[in-house]
Amino acid sequence: MKLRFLGGAREVGRSAILVNDALLLDFGMLTANPPQFPVETPAPEAVVVSHGHLDHVGTVPALLSGDARPPIHWTPPTYELTMTLARDTLKLHGGSFHCPFTETDLRRVTQVSETHGYRESFEAAGHEITFYNAGHIPGSAHVLVDDGETRLLYTGDFHLDDLSGADGNVSRDGDVSSNRGEAPAQAVSGQRLVAGSRARPDADVVLCESTYSDVEHEDRSAVEERFVESVETTLWEGGTVVVPAFAIGRTQELMLVCEAHDIPCYVDGMGKEVTQMLRQHPGFVRDSEAFRRAVSHARFVTGRDGQRKRIIDQRAAIITTSGMLSGGPAMTYIPEIRRNPTNKIAMTGYQVEGTPGRDLLETGRAEIDGRVMPVSAQVEQYDFSAHADRNGVLEFLESYRESPVLVNHGDRCAAFAEELRGEGVDSSAPELGETVTV
Ligand SMILES: [Zn+2]
Repeated sequence: MKLRFLGGAREVGRSAILVNDALLLDFGMLTANPPQFPVETPAPEAVVVSHGHLDHVGTVPALLSGDARPPIHWTPPTYELTMTLARDTLKLHGGSFHCPFTETDLRRVTQVSETHGYRESFEAAGHEITFYNAGHIPGSAHVLVDDGETRLLYTGDFHLDDLSGADGNVSRDGDVSSNRGEAPAQAVSGQRLVAGSRARPDADVVLCESTYSDVEHEDRSAVEERFVESVETTLWEGGTVVVPAFAIGRTQELMLVCEAHDIPCYVDGMGKEVTQMLRQHPGFVRDSEAFRRAVSHARFVTGRDGQRKRIIDQRAAIITTSGMLSGGPAMTYIPEIRRNPTNKIAMTGYQVEGTPGRDLLETGRAEIDGRVMPVSAQVEQYDFSAHADRNGVLEFLESYRESPVLVNHGDRCAAFAEELRGEGVDSSAPELGETVTV
């Protein structure tokens, strides 16, 4: 099997791997100024997408800008999220070099889309493909690719439940055919929105993400406990809490947290649209009944008639995009609440260097609409990560000790591959543009 790394090799963003010159796995976009795309635009016979995040799907519509119409295979939520993200990219950058596709290309995506559930094998460009729940966001998949000689397991981005506090009685082979019917969130410490990855299908080679290969995350239930206590304290003191959150996954996760602890909450930004979409795909969330309750518990902001200005006096949590304060309705709320030290801004994800969110954490100031504003409101950060941490990645790879491991999707892929070699694992970190035969 031949693997050509067109993006996401020794970096995070623009993931793209061409298998046997015929099958493309992911085709993402690296969010930067300006955005970056995979180093080549191949002409694959078929495309398979692991999950609906910009760094894995952001450039997919560009594959349809010529005459070729390769089928695109994904889960139903991944298809919907790709369309949402692509429409947003068109709105932000349409018609410029920063948007490598057009409205027409996007319409073609609908024509070539083929959706599949977990564990339903299908054929793509002469390969047998099977998706397994990756536990990262709804619809996220580990992708098993079999070319008849070699079985490659492409992890995509993934997350494991922390089983230390639970009974730990999980079959190695994964006995869960979908998220449906899994134990409710209380039984394990993990994401409330999606069950962690459990399937460990046999594979001859593993291509593994390594975003947090040098980080150990605090137990999820402890993070949630601190977050809830802090929000409740602020509301009790009469303040408002702005909760910047990514639209896909994080917004819904925090809605579930708010419902579980009876914290009054509003939801604003692109996360509203994503939430409505996920209601149509209850099989891809961990507990569809809890999700339904979270949706009816939250109040969705329309933004009409000065609603946002009224909400800031409501003693509630406001879950809103963007997660790093680089746009979205968060920019309306923060200037309104920033002067009062009773108020709080609770960040819920990693803040990339150079973003207003990172600046706010480090300096107590934020540049909003071109103006640097001092912030007297309290600023806190909580790590609700949807990626496996170092222990999670090692736990996952424990099932593949005999298989070569290729490391990608990280800032220190080469160092992590070297660590794995030290443990006796045949491991390497392919470089951008490199072709590897496995
Ligand atoms: Zn992702």
